[in-house]
Amino acid sequence: MRRRVFLKALPASALALSRAASAQDERIPVVGGVDAVVLEDQLRVVVQMDGSSPFEVVPGPPPGVVLKNALYLPVEDTRILPSGPVRSYRIYTPLEGAFKTVIEFDAAGGSRIEARTVGDPPRLIIDVLGPSLAPSGGQVSAELTRLEADAQKEMEGVRTRAADGKLGLRIRNIVIDPGHGGHDPGAVGLKGIKEKDITLEIGRKLAARLERAGFGRISLTRTDDYYLNLSDRTAVANQYGADLLVSLHCNANENRKAVGSETFYCSETASSQEAERVAAFENSFAEPEELTRQESIVDIEWVLFRLQRKLLWKDAQRIATDIQEALKIGIPVKSRGVESAGFFVLKKARMPSVLIETAFISNPEEEQLLAKVETQERLAESIASRLVAYAS
Ligand SMILES: [Zn+2]
Repeated sequence: MRRRVFLKALPASALALSRAASAQDERIPVVGGVDAVVLEDQLRVVVQMDGSSPFEVVPGPPPGVVLKNALYLPVEDTRILPSGPVRSYRIYTPLEGAFKTVIEFDAAGGSRIEARTVGDPPRLIIDVLGPSLAPSGGQVSAELTRLEADAQKEMEGVRTRAADGKLGLRIRNIVIDPGHGGHDPGAVGLKGIKEKDITLEIGRKLAARLERAGFGRISLTRTDDYYLNLSDRTAVANQYGADLLVSLHCNANENRKAVGSETFYCSETASSQEAERVAAFENSFAEPEELTRQESIVDIEWVLFRLQRKLLWKDAQRIATDIQEALKIGIPVKSRGVESAGFFVLKKARMPSVLIETAFISNPEEEQLLAKVETQERLAESIASRLVAYAS
């Protein structure tokens, strides 16, 4: 999937390159994700590859690492960093000459580079060790500088909140996301009850309760039976400056005996196989271009956001635990507990976000329960009752 995604965004020159590469008998490894972690006096860059390549540390200037037999199919990009010993780094495959990938650093004088490969498929780990530089200026565009400043400010806020503990987590604006809609019915029960209708009903009822509970703005990503793709749902929450995103769903399983309610928060890796299955099901409603967009984000915002969201996910875990406790008492359905997985609709949320699988629409008894107004009201009441504690 990742490979196809990259190929879609390729400029013609890179296509020519990859064709030339595939014309040879041996396949040239391709560089996939490149991630960075910035510490005070260290930058660590992790380069994923789908095969092994010899590499060489180049002292510079500019200092860097050359992967002697690997292609970077976006061909080139430059990433700017907010702090640490490196102002920016550039990854590129030269269009002339051998099939290699160069990673170059605009680093503080006296920085040292160490590189090694680990794992199979191999990852190249590069450490740049050196004195911290002031936030970058000069060649950075005004736009990026502003993004950096905003991102740093946001991060400070998140840090303060995390340090404050539970009492510090304050929620004013909430976006409620009734899952699915329009041509996407979500899961459908034996009696023909559709997930999209249940989630909308619960969403409306939850919004009505929260509106009376002393929050700021309560919004719904959709207020009727229409389709909204997954990234638009997250975008709504981001644009509204929500402090919490609650995505509502009904679970389904081929095994019609599966029952229970479950609350999820987002994580890089799933907390269990079952959690992974649920996320895979919900993510299957993402459109191909959404996945492309997700894979191709490479800017300062993204680097910082990856650091921030770990803190957001921690807050989300706490909220998910609270909600699940309430569901355990509030609705006549078994509690399956709190789990985490890489839900697409939660991943890019710039606030704590949870996804509630209210019950199994694939189980005939729970399908009937979900269709009842009384259950929908109890669900809304239970969720609202716990969120009130965070109202500010
Ligand atoms: Zn769903």
